[in-house]
Formats: sequence, structure tokens, C-alpha cells
Amino acid sequence: MANLHEIDLRDRRVFIRVDFNVPLAAGGQEITSDKRIRASLPTIQYALEKGAALILASHLGRPKGKRNPEMSLKPVSVRLRELLNVPVALAPDCVGPEVRVMLPKPGEVLLLENLRFHPEEEANNEAFSRELASLCDVYINDAFGSAHRAHASTVGMVAHVPVAAAGLLMEQELKYLTMVTQHPDHPAVGILGGAKVSDKIDVIENLLKIVDHLLIGGAMAYTFLRAQGLPVGKSLVEEDKIDLARHLLEQAGGKLQLPVDHVVAVELKEGADFQVVEQIPDGTMGLDIGPRTVEIYSSVIAQARTIVWNGPMGVFEKPPFDSGTVAVAEAVAGSGATSVVGGGDSEKAVKSAGVAGKISHISTGGGASLEFLSGIDLPGVAVLRGK
Ligand code: AMP
Repeated sequence: MANLHEIDLRDRRVFIRVDFNVPLAAGGQEITSDKRIRASLPTIQYALEKGAALILASHLGRPKGKRNPEMSLKPVSVRLRELLNVPVALAPDCVGPEVRVMLPKPGEVLLLENLRFHPEEEANNEAFSRELASLCDVYINDAFGSAHRAHASTVGMVAHVPVAAAGLLMEQELKYLTMVTQHPDHPAVGILGGAKVSDKIDVIENLLKIVDHLLIGGAMAYTFLRAQGLPVGKSLVEEDKIDLARHLLEQAGGKLQLPVDHVVAVELKEGADFQVVEQIPDGTMGLDIGPRTVEIYSSVIAQARTIVWNGPMGVFEKPPFDSGTVAVAEAVAGSGATSVVGGGDSEKAVKSAGVAGKISHISTGGGASLEFLSGIDLPGVAVLRGK
């Protein structure tokens, strides 16, 4: 795959597909986190320093192929201008004559309007892909968070541009995810949590081929415990996945570890009365891993040389059910292992535990990193490799 540093960007019109799909407060005027904008600043600044004329393009939200002022990239253009300290023009659209008259000169930045205002973007339409491609001399994909989608701006247009390469954020993401999946140092430990087994079946199967230990927490643990015939009270269980969970347990042959104690409550609410139990009583639900499990998981984590973690160990949004997730975050940070954390919740957990700086890599793409971990060749990455 071509590397950004290998390409001559001077006086070229460079199209960078970024992931500026930022969270917006109701009404779409105010950005509540500019993390995704900041994540692509190194690529943008590098291209500007090298004398490129920059076109930036992103989707934002789910406008479903229709223009929607609440999903305009206007607030993003304002924030980007503040962060870059150079003028950023916002085009009224992403294709068409209004964009052509605004094409940037070297040193200038033009941000296109939301790609998904056109249904052709998600349909990976050929004509639309050609039109996007015709805007530039060089295509850079820095939108790791969208690399699992075969859309016009992530896949279609690559066939029609003379040169294509990965941006610096994309490169960083792929470097760490490849490291943990293709050539991890052992012992390698996977940690999976979150709500559903069904969302992570492929990840579990793939990680079982890679890691030495797979530690399970979150609600998905209860489907596995049910599969072992243990009582789970009214914990969240996916009834239709119990057989599959049993099959995964057999396949795992001892690699897959489940919680041995639980924090349970009668109802799920912040500050609810809770109990720590080894067997979940009827009428209660498991909302976090218990202290004994924290101890066991922490000692496995302490031995690890590679760690990959996705999904919280409990309902971490509602204290006191955040303890297990915070303790796991601290254990990962303290392990000294190469650690890759993916998914918004695990990221929040390492941040709220104040240990984000000790994680080797926090992925910016929840869905994309999960697909990568499940062994899928992401279409937005495969197309760059094939160029
Ligand atoms: P996911 O998006 O699959 O990573 O799931 C994250 C969600 O799982 C969070 O909102 C957690 O509150 C939820 N979750 C984690 N553990 C539990 C549990 N024991 N019971 C119910 N929900 C849980």
C-alpha cells in the first residue's frame, strides 16, 4: 500500500477522505467532541506543508441521501479553521459546478459538504465516484472509521484517481491492528465485553485463533454462563445464541474465561443497591464483573505482552457498575504490554480511569476495528492495497 511520504504532493490537488463524523448537540450547530477532527490533523498539516491544494471530504450522521441542514459540515469547517489556523472554505455540495468554481490552490483548504447528502455515496455509484475522482490528482484515505464501508468515497473513486495512498491516521490504525492480529508477542490476551454476543461472534472466533486467553465480561458473559447451565437470574441473555455460545466454549478449549463472581442488582439504575455474588439469585441481574473476577483477569493481563480490548465489563455508564471496567482499564494500562483498545465505551473507560496515555493505541473506528479483529479485509483498505 502506498505511503503518504512516498507521494509528491507539491501543487497537486489532494483529496483526503477524512472521518469527520463528529457528535453534534441537538440541532446540529455545536460539536460535542472534536476528537475525530484532531485525529486527521497530522495528515492535513503534512499535506499543507508539502504544498498541496487540499480537498477534504467526509460523511456526517445518517442523512439518508437527502440534504439536511442539521447534518451540515458547517460547524466542522469552523472548528477545523480554529485547529489548523488557516482559512477553510466550505463548499455548498460535494460534487457539481458549485464545487468546481471553488477548487483550492496550493496552501488552501476546501471542505466538501456531507457526502451522504447524495444517495450515490452509500450506493458506491460509478458516475458519482468518477465525479469525486475528477476533482483531484491524488487520493488519500485517512478515514479508518469508514474503511469497513464500500462507498463511493472510500472504494469507488479509487479506481478513477491516478494515485492513491493511506493517510497517517489510517496507517497508524493499520499498524497497531495488524501487529496485534498478525504477529502478536505472547502471551496475547483478548478482552471482550459489551451488550451482545451476536455483535461479536466473528471477533470471538477470530481472536480464539490469535490469543492465548480471551477474557469475557459485560452482558455477553451471561449467555455463555447460561450455556454452561448456570443460573443468571434476569441478566441480559440472548436466548437464540445459547447453542452458539456452547459451541464457542467447546471450540475455545479453556482459552475463554468467564466471570466467577458478579455485581447484581434488582434494577438497573445509577446508585442502585447491589450485592456481590458467585451465583446470581433469581430476580436479580448481573451488571458488572465482581472483585474476584477482577483479580483473576488482572493477573492474566499483568502477564500479557499483547492486549486487545473491546467493550465494557459492565454497565459502566451507571456507577457503581463501572468498577470492573475501570479496574480492567487500570490493569491494561499497568501491564506494559502493547495494548489496542477499540470501541467508544472502552475508550471512555480508559479515559475516565485517567490511563489513556498508557494505552499503545486507541482506535478511532469502533465498527471498523471490530471488523478488522474479526479477520475481514476492510474494503477501504483492500482497494488501496490493490492500487
Ligand atoms: P457494546 O456496544 O456491545 O460494546 O455494548 C456496550 C453496552 O453494553 C454498554 O452500554 C453497557 O452498559 C452494556 N452492558 C455491559 N454490561 C452489561 C450488563 N451486564 N447488563 C446490561 N448491559 C450491559
